[in-house]
Amino acid sequence: MSEAGTSTSNVFTDAVARMVQIGEAAGIDAEIIDALRQPRATVAAALPVRMDDGSTRYFEAFRCRYNDALGPAKGGIRFHPNVSIEEVRALALWMTIKCSVVGLPYGGGKGGVIVDPKKLSRLELERLSRAYMRAMADFLGPDVDIPAPDVYTNARIMGWMADEYQAITRRKSPAVITGKPIELGGSLGRDEATGRGAFIVIEAYAERVGLDRAQTTVAVQGFGNAGYHVARLLQAAGYRVVAVSDSKGGIYSEAGFDIDSLYTTKHESRLLKGVYCENGICELVDHDTISNEDLLELDVDILVPAALEGVIRADNVDRIRARTIAEVANGPLTSAADAPLFDRGVTVLPDVLTNAGGVTVSYFEWVQNKQGYPWTLDEVRTRLADVMNKAFDQMWAYKTEHGVSARAAAYAVSMQRIANAISAGGTRAWFRAS
Ligand code: NAD
Repeated sequence: MSEAGTSTSNVFTDAVARMVQIGEAAGIDAEIIDALRQPRATVAAALPVRMDDGSTRYFEAFRCRYNDALGPAKGGIRFHPNVSIEEVRALALWMTIKCSVVGLPYGGGKGGVIVDPKKLSRLELERLSRAYMRAMADFLGPDVDIPAPDVYTNARIMGWMADEYQAITRRKSPAVITGKPIELGGSLGRDEATGRGAFIVIEAYAERVGLDRAQTTVAVQGFGNAGYHVARLLQAAGYRVVAVSDSKGGIYSEAGFDIDSLYTTKHESRLLKGVYCENGICELVDHDTISNEDLLELDVDILVPAALEGVIRADNVDRIRARTIAEVANGPLTSAADAPLFDRGVTVLPDVLTNAGGVTVSYFEWVQNKQGYPWTLDEVRTRLADVMNKAFDQMWAYKTEHGVSARAAAYAVSMQRIANAISAGGTRAWFRAS
């Protein structure tokens, strides 16, 4: 979806092709693979929004409930100009695989609006968020399909949407949406959850392969919610984060950056670019300014794409020099990059496991809302670590036993779980025997 990335028209086809290929190789029943080739439902709507100048504009919006064999659908809502129905479907398929990888009682869903939210006023953004919920309320619900934040949506937007849903249904039901502000039923630890989950996965991997943290260099593409927290936690654990970037470009320092200083300066200046030369960090650390393409091709131990999908593809995979790629964004590698990297011995820690910390703490938020009993931050972090480590161990055991990539192992474990749930209703063999 980035200008240089996978075209929006083939991202879903590519996601399905990869799922089918891995599923067939893992011996998943053909009927189960067929069930996962298409979403159960996709709703498209035009959202009328009163603009500040008095005019009405219509924004195209989608919600996809991909599969709910394991439980209600779960997945974020993205506000971005490059959103498309195909992208929403691809993201919803990945959510289906992801929720199952970490053993959550959820299926997969996703939503999106074609909009550049940076061009809206705050009031227009609120009206758009509420319009989304009005259009989709009949298809969502705490036991049907539960949204959450994604790119360019945040806790405040989730709060507006939850409020709108509750106004429509005339019931308090905070479990309709996760990633809410704490005051409206959000969970402690949700803001950092994706980055923390990714950090736990990278740490588990580092233990398995014996990485020396102080000698391990890391480059992080995308300095938003997911990218910032994973960079911060890696640096705190002793890794050397030598490059970070955002949509405006990147910075590189052989000595490594202090991530919290970068974050503070970015937020004061509003631009990571402003960090480079105008607000002091340059005085702290020698650095070079680099492009996002340069960052991807750096000679580092761990590359962390944490922005958008389709950034590593057939045309640039040969220039990737990182030894390990931890996919924190959804779908940063197209399927064309899988085999060349595997053949070169590059380990790709797949998105469906690596970024699953976000949906895991969203699940904790939903449980807390249903219980009416909030957990402490320690409880959230401890349980997150349990879920992520267990999922990593299962993935790693499969990978080791079958000699496949980490992605193939994660998909195989996940698809088998979905297969078991679908088969519990009866298989072809069982019905034909009667
Ligand atoms: P965000 O909106 O907080 O941040 C996105 C970041 O990417 C920003 O820093 C932006 O400047 C940067 N960016 C945009 N275009 C870029 C480009 N072309 N090159 C480099 N950087 C670019 O979003 P987020 O929530 O951090 O999500 C990032 C990725 O992580 C997405 O793929 C999202 O689906 C995935 N993800 C997020 C969560 C979550 O809980 N936030 C959970 C799972 C997966």
